[in-house]
Amino acid sequence: MAYLAPARPAPARTRSTVRAALGRGRRVVYLWRRLKHAFSGRETPRAGIRADGAVPANVTVFDDGFPAVTNLDAALLGALRDAASDAAVDGVGFVVNSGWRSPQYQERLLLEAVWTHGSERKAARLVATPGTSAHVSGDAVDLGPAEATAWLSEHGARYGLCQVYANEPWHYELRPEAIVHGRPPMYADPTHDPRMQH
Ligand SMILES: [Zn+2]
Repeated sequence: MAYLAPARPAPARTRSTVRAALGRGRRVVYLWRRLKHAFSGRETPRAGIRADGAVPANVTVFDDGFPAVTNLDAALLGALRDAASDAAVDGVGFVVNSGWRSPQYQERLLLEAVWTHGSERKAARLVATPGTSAHVSGDAVDLGPAEATAWLSEHGARYGLCQVYANEPWHYELRPEAIVHGRPPMYADPTHDPRMQH
């Protein structure tokens, strides 16, 4: 070991720098473990997010490669595909901005909304809990663009596809009775929906 410089006692500043670095290291390891837990059983975080129901841009109701689409209730998906086929004749395409979501993904959306809007009450107007969301049960889809939702507001009831909340023109659910009776009245927002009361 002749090539090493003679050992000198480390100055105090170096020791505290080392301690701070160790502290940071422990925090990084802790966060890494939390992240690994959140995505456990997934190949990569990106695949995990997709498996949770996130969708990239321009996914249509016909795309079978996305759990957000394929985990929708079969009757809802069938009605969406029937409607989209007819809308395509009018030059209108349906894009799925959100469909089925895992409970974990819904929880993340709710936490984001609480963070953004500052209170759980305000967040509840926009995002349901994992236990109450019609997205988690596969019974709701958020569609775009505006031409698609405009087409659906005119023709959707014929397929049982109904806007449920006045403040969410993109959120559609299946109401088979609408085929005969027309769209049922909308709730002003999700807080008025009895399904969201528990
Ligand atoms: Zn929705």
